[in-house]
Amino acid sequence: MTDRLLRGRLLTFHAEPQGPDDTGAYSYIEDGALVIGGGVIRAAGTYAAMTAQAPDMPVTDHRPHLMMAGFIDPHIHFPQGQVIASWGAQLLDWLNTYTFPEETRFADPDHAARMATLFLDQLTDHGTTTVAAYASVHLTSAEALFAAAARRDMRIIAGKVMMDRNAPEGLRDTALTGYDESKALIGRWHGKGRALYAITPRFAITSTPGQLEVAGALVIEQPGCYLQTHLSENHDEIAYTASLYPDSPDYLGVYERYGLLSPRALMGHCLHLSPREIGVMAETGARPVFCPTSNLFLGSGLFDDAGLRAAGLVNAIATDVGGGTSYSMLQTLHEGYKVLQLQGQNLHPLRAFHWITRGNAIALGLEDRIGTLAEGSEADIVVLDARATDAMALRMARAETLSEELFILQIMGDDRAVVQTYVAGEPQKTGFVSTT
Ligand SMILES: [Zn+2]
Repeated sequence: MTDRLLRGRLLTFHAEPQGPDDTGAYSYIEDGALVIGGGVIRAAGTYAAMTAQAPDMPVTDHRPHLMMAGFIDPHIHFPQGQVIASWGAQLLDWLNTYTFPEETRFADPDHAARMATLFLDQLTDHGTTTVAAYASVHLTSAEALFAAAARRDMRIIAGKVMMDRNAPEGLRDTALTGYDESKALIGRWHGKGRALYAITPRFAITSTPGQLEVAGALVIEQPGCYLQTHLSENHDEIAYTASLYPDSPDYLGVYERYGLLSPRALMGHCLHLSPREIGVMAETGARPVFCPTSNLFLGSGLFDDAGLRAAGLVNAIATDVGGGTSYSMLQTLHEGYKVLQLQGQNLHPLRAFHWITRGNAIALGLEDRIGTLAEGSEADIVVLDARATDAMALRMARAETLSEELFILQIMGDDRAVVQTYVAGEPQKTGFVSTT
């Protein structure tokens, strides 16, 4: 594959913006260009400088649109694409009524393979280029997801869910099979191409102490792997966990006891943490993952972003599809903005767009590879149109600054604002032609 030049307005962050006017945290080039080849960004700069280096390179012209690093979604459920928008329940009822029956379908490798393709299509249609995903309990579902991602050379973190109790027949493994199958998947996929493995005990309620013990053994044996689970999402969930683990000081204490916590631990939700739990999260470096559309949809609670940050935690932000209601990280920022408003916290657009790119990359420890348009980064890129709808165009006619444009994308944008998505330098959306 020969090198190629993408022309457009370039935005990339190199630090977290400390306020709405922190221009030192990012680079913005009005007539910019990226040289991409071999799956990476070989060079970035002004269009004039880039064409001077290589005048004969083929050009894809994305002007007047905005090019930035592809979005990163660090908490999403691969088997839940057909349970989004399921009515009427809070967490435990929602799992039992909708989610668990749906996930049983992923025992069928053909269904899993078909859904994996559709899942990755949805991600890139929405501008997302990396996810940390839960598969179902079935080895075949994780296998299908990794295989589909490998075919597109997509950077993915995923794992087979481990759950050996409080789930229906056909959706349970055992401590032993959960260990063996996770280990087999790690051997087959972790570090292969762009794939990374996440050891994935669903949450304390669906794992016996014996299963959490083997999850802890995997964490020790496989230090490069992630650990992903849920924590403190819903009051009934917290009470049920306490009844299942009566000796634990609190919910996080369960995971702490089995050695699951580290900076590679992605803890979904973290809505109702005690001061002790926040202290342990800070000591171990475990990452809270804020899932605003899910937290509002399931009525779970409000994520205290400022409070957790003040305690030294590194927060990620994610969709949690299908408890979450949109694949769009723009819609996720939109709902996140409202959740923080309800608590007197104010998510300004520079920090918001940093968060879903370099910020989530930092939470994953991958900021040297994804999340920016820096030279040498993997060529995962999203192209955004802040005038994608008539209503957005009407609003944009009165916008004067980059921050205003970003905030319009954050509040009014969704997949319609995503003009193109590149994964390892390859365009994913069909129907777009603008090559000169
Ligand atoms: Zn979840």
